Amino acid sequence: MVEDKSKTIPVLVALRCRPLIKKELDEGCESCLQTISGEPQVVLGKDRAFTYDFAFGPTDPQADVYNHACRTLVERVFKGYNATILAYGQTGSGKTFTMGGYEASLEGDEDAMGVIPRILREVFQIIVDKKDFKFAVRVSYLEIYKEDLIDLLCAPSERAPLPIREESNGGIKIHGSREVPVTNFEETMNLLSQGATGRTTGATAMNNTSSRSHAIFTLHIDQENDIGDCSKVKFHMVDLAGSERTKRTMAEGERLKEGININKGLLALGNVISALGEEGDHRRKHIPYRDSKLTRILQDSLGGNSHTLMIACVSPADSNIEETLNTLRYADRAR
Ligand code: ADP
Ligand code: MG
Repeated sequence: MVEDKSKTIPVLVALRCRPLIKKELDEGCESCLQTISGEPQVVLGKDRAFTYDFAFGPTDPQADVYNHACRTLVERVFKGYNATILAYGQTGSGKTFTMGGYEASLEGDEDAMGVIPRILREVFQIIVDKKDFKFAVRVSYLEIYKEDLIDLLCAPSERAPLPIREESNGGIKIHGSREVPVTNFEETMNLLSQGATGRTTGATAMNNTSSRSHAIFTLHIDQENDIGDCSKVKFHMVDLAGSERTKRTMAEGERLKEGININKGLLALGNVISALGEEGDHRRKHIPYRDSKLTRILQDSLGGNSHTLMIACVSPADSNIEETLNTLRYADRAR
């Protein structure tokens, strides 16, 4: 069922609910979100049910998220299609846990390995296995912070905001961004882990290491088969900024400004994804990619023949119920 869908529906949505964390347990929080084993459905409170393409509960391991929701995208990429995976949710909901786990992965901690390390491991394995093909793989790692585009693969002292350019063929080129050639898993993970250390973070009342920026990691894969057919694909993996409303985090000054820009990107993304999901006569001819830097960068990898997976992350704590409802609705609109 899922495989058929992935061929015809441009956007799939996975909901992931993390376990209650120590802080929430210490504060006496209770869970207000139920997942039903084997069903792609969640129930908030007593009776507010939402259905997605996939739903993962607090005890579902990282491997399940990869195997059930992400693996088909890797297969599609090797067939020549662009793909994008986005982690959405409020700060502390599990976005970075779901996407990353670089240090743990390099140390061989299988359970902690998130989506990105699992994808990289499989990509390099496929490349080893496909002996008749020629491959060139490069990575780029960008951050959007207050609508500025920053190259995380540059040393902090060399970082200046980069311009985005649309090419005549509709492709998106980011002028001056580094694309570093890579040949194996460890090398790529080290680059990522270095880049992640340089991300812009800011203290909010909610989480003092909360990330206020979108981080876009991209695998560029050039493939040439034994009869000389070439394909060039982009596989984006995005750890989005926290989706929480600014009031909740008691934002002031700079923080508030960041909040407004962050919401602009997430709002534009929601509009693009929902426009892509409209079917038949309702299908909008105009997809509003140009409304934010985030959607412009992802433009040629959202919609068309590309495949997109949004992983919406939520906390089950009753203290977060409002933000959780916002995320459930945002993700619902994306389907
Ligand atoms: P975000 O990136 O959305 O701000 P994090 O990924 O940093 O959130 O997660 C917040 C906390 O919850 C971290 O301590 C993380 O280890 C923990 N956590 C998140 N998801 C899970 C999960 N599925 N299982 C166990 N712990 C999790
Ligand atoms: Mg994070």
